[in-house]
Amino acid sequence: GTIRTFTFYKASVLDEQQQILGVVGVMLDVSELKKKKQALIEQNRSLEMYSLTDPLTGLYNRRKFNDVFPDHLRAAKRHQRLLNFAIIDIDNFKKYNDTYGHVAGDKALVIISKLLQSKLLRADDYIFRLGGEEFGLLFYADDEVAASQFVNDIRLAVQSLCIPHTVNNGYSCVTISLGMVTIKHTDKDMLALYEMADNLLYKVKNAGKNQILAKLV
Ligand code: GH3
Ligand code: MG
Ligand code: MG
Repeated sequence: GTIRTFTFYKASVLDEQQQILGVVGVMLDVSELKKKKQALIEQNRSLEMYSLTDPLTGLYNRRKFNDVFPDHLRAAKRHQRLLNFAIIDIDNFKKYNDTYGHVAGDKALVIISKLLQSKLLRADDYIFRLGGEEFGLLFYADDEVAASQFVNDIRLAVQSLCIPHTVNNGYSCVTISLGMVTIKHTDKDMLALYEMADNLLYKVKNAGKNQILAKLV
């Protein structure tokens, strides 16, 4: 009552005049081998998934980002689409941990990750946890105004979660800051673009946080 898989080999047996005397065949039951191979494929798939995602938030990690970003840079150029890359950083998160504890900090990271994930619009938009309390957002937009509006909406949505944070530059809830590059006519590579977004973020942090700063490159 079970299905089994076989590999079948056959060969003709010839005499000295090349006349066929008969046929020999060997049948090998490879059912177990097939099952093990399938299990291995599934194991590999879940290993790859683990290596590309962050265990706390379930978001894609830095390694996946390093894979995806260069591909998107090439694709955006080829199809003349406007690709945007934003670094999102939670404001005063060290103080958050110091005030509410590390467990609460982890919970806040999960809640914010869920919100960020829910904001993605297209199948080829991505959110990554780049490390600590920093996230990367890769998305397409019709123009730079739409791109800025999109990330500003995300900033406001995080603030509207109203995760209490009493020592956050006078804001009573958790907020984020963003540095974003809108990539139009540039041959800059991933590292250079990353550095630009990071510099914009740095400026935002110095200018009071809970803001975005975007640049067309
Ligand atoms: P800024 O507004 O300038 O970004 O200040 P900040 O305190 O957010 O930045 P800083 O780089 O000084 O500190 C980041 C903090 O993020 C330090 C660390 O306690 C916290 N953090 C990083 N990863 C995790 C994590 O996985 N869980 C928790 N609970 N905290 C984390
Ligand atoms: Mg940071
Ligand atoms: Mg921070």
